[in-house]
Amino acid sequence: MSTPFNKPFTIGAELEYITDAVARGHLSGDGHYTKLCHRWLEQNLGAQRALLTHSCTAALEMAAILCDIRPGDEVIMPSYTFVSTANAFVLRGGVPVFVDIRRDTLNLDESLIEAAITPKTKAIVPVHYAGVACEMDAIMALARRGGLLVVEDAAQAVLSDYRGRRPGAIGDLGCLSFHETKNVISGEGGALLVNNPALIERAEIIREKGTNRSQFFRGEVDKYTWVDIGSSFLPSELIGAFLWAQLEHAEAIIAQRRRLCAVYREALQDLADAGRLLLPQPEPEGVSGNGHMFYLFTRTAAERPALLAHLKAAGVHAVFHYVPLHASPAGRRYGRAAGPLPVTEDLAERLVRLPLYYGLAEDEARRVAAAVRQFFESR
Ligand SMILES: *Cc1c(COP(=O)(O)O)cnc(C)c1O
Repeated sequence: MSTPFNKPFTIGAELEYITDAVARGHLSGDGHYTKLCHRWLEQNLGAQRALLTHSCTAALEMAAILCDIRPGDEVIMPSYTFVSTANAFVLRGGVPVFVDIRRDTLNLDESLIEAAITPKTKAIVPVHYAGVACEMDAIMALARRGGLLVVEDAAQAVLSDYRGRRPGAIGDLGCLSFHETKNVISGEGGALLVNNPALIERAEIIREKGTNRSQFFRGEVDKYTWVDIGSSFLPSELIGAFLWAQLEHAEAIIAQRRRLCAVYREALQDLADAGRLLLPQPEPEGVSGNGHMFYLFTRTAAERPALLAHLKAAGVHAVFHYVPLHASPAGRRYGRAAGPLPVTEDLAERLVRLPLYYGLAEDEARRVAAAVRQFFESR
């Protein structure tokens, strides 16, 4: 028996909705199902405007254009994140400025942001790691004081809670992912949430190849034409149809993932109490995650490959991420660290993610935990 790290799933009427989308005779973007997804995201997350994109990467690229990033502009972000967070801004000539993370949440350390701001700083990009929200009140206050825009990388944080608000709907812009490794999936997929009303019209134009096509379809202009830079950022209606079925069951998906996290925690708590490994810290006051990820830390960097090899032999596919961006070849070329990043460098070498997906049975999660236990007890 073997347990994969991730397994894409259907949960409802995905295939039926795709068949229906074909029958409706509209397969390109912004059809019936895409519009249902837009309304759902606006209502359930509290965004002013939601626009499906073909990935979170695409939403981040739109955000960089909307922030009007020019060559040399600086963008503050964590180094401990996926490449797209930085790449989107580098594509516009921006310079990622990497700031260290908090030891408890692995999120951007808000207390280090102010010292990283220079006259060239244009935006702050908090990443809600593992679906647990960053300290958005502090980050928004800093940004407002400095006249900076905030782009949330909420790829992992769909439907998480930050003091009664939804990550992605707090900053000027928020970027979501529906990649098959995330909570709610459409294979590839994403969304841009536009929360700053001044950016809505331009967001629609950038997404439609730099044309005012959306306004044309609403009857607001009598012909459509090229008015700005842009690209094709919108997904096919087939993706919208699949995603709509997932959104209908989003709460159930999150409940199941949170249950699996609780199973892992319960099964490993005594090992953590005995100091053999480290488990995720409790969520900060007023913050609750969406069960996106279950991770643990080995005590030393040397222990991690041994644990991964032990799990592999036991048929468990566990993984680690990320190589910190400030230490990667492109990160060195295009960005810079705001200062020393000791927490990032330490935790990145010791983090291990356990299998977690909607279809994972609780018994199988216990079997995974038992394999982890066997490793630590044999040492
Ligand atoms: C997954 C992820 C992305 C990229 O999402 P795609 O939809 O695959 O483009 C960006 N940022 C973070 C933090 C992610 O976890």
